Amino acid sequence: MRLKKYNRCLFCKSSNLRLNNKQGFVHNFYTKAIQNDFNLKDSFFLKMKVYKCIKCKIIQNNPWFHYDDAFKIFNQIYGQHNRNWSNILNFFKKGKKPDHGNLFAILKKNLKIRNYAEFNSPFMGIMINFFSEEYKKNNLNFLKKMFDISLKYLSCRQLAGSNKTQIFDKTKLAKKYFNILKKLKSKKFRNNRIQKTLIVDNSYLSWLYNDNYKSVNSKTLASALFDITVKNIEQNDTKLRYDLFGIFHTLDHTHQPKQILDYALKSSKYVLIYCHIDEELEKQHLFSLTSGFMNYLKEKKIKVFDLTSLINKDYKSPEQYFLCSQKNQLPSFK
Ligand SMILES: [Zn+2]
Repeated sequence: MRLKKYNRCLFCKSSNLRLNNKQGFVHNFYTKAIQNDFNLKDSFFLKMKVYKCIKCKIIQNNPWFHYDDAFKIFNQIYGQHNRNWSNILNFFKKGKKPDHGNLFAILKKNLKIRNYAEFNSPFMGIMINFFSEEYKKNNLNFLKKMFDISLKYLSCRQLAGSNKTQIFDKTKLAKKYFNILKKLKSKKFRNNRIQKTLIVDNSYLSWLYNDNYKSVNSKTLASALFDITVKNIEQNDTKLRYDLFGIFHTLDHTHQPKQILDYALKSSKYVLIYCHIDEELEKQHLFSLTSGFMNYLKEKKIKVFDLTSLINKDYKSPEQYFLCSQKNQLPSFK
């Protein structure tokens, strides 16, 4: 197992990094799995020190795992994004939406959203809220049926290892489920829907190929069930397309966070960021934003509004929600 030096800030590329006041290593669920599968001693983790970037204020582990090993961490050792899936399972099985306090209501009241984009993990933010608003009869029975049929349809399209009869049966079933889903999504049951886009960058710091539930990948399910367009990030494309761009705990799960934020700011009127701001950086994370990061954005002439206390949420760990914009005035939140 190799450690890689990250001597420049992963966000702003500054080399002005200082050893952070808070160091220390406590095992958690992730580090125990990583330790087991990579066959590591505690001393390996202790070599990773936390640094703070003086310029943009993010904190970052250095040294940390090599790029190739990051792939194994997020796609093999811990390939399923637990919170992503518990969000969607809680919604379709219990009717419970992800806990963002009254964020969705505040955004709806203050911004006109017709075109919404979210980054990398489809069920971490407010896609579920938009989906829920699209259906007139969104009771639990209706939701359970939609979810169940979507999973069955996508599973029936997996034919590897099947014999001729099984292929015939599965294809017939897939068509049946597809048609049921089409009926459930028909205008009879639906209100107008907004345009929803999932922007992905396929970073090795994020959950990709094994973010599956019952053999179905989260991005595939988002595409089929939520009618989300999945788009690969096109950094050179600066056309304004989105009213709002949500980044929910995913800016610290890419190797190119500055490019992602720059793209979000250029392509959208408003960008919403939800992030950890814990000064104690756990070892499964390469880096994290901090509360000082908002000031860095303000210095860069980006308008920023902190929503953390406004949305009425019980925080279990230090986290922050903020809205920012490069092009538009921020609304005066009421
Ligand atoms: Zn920096």
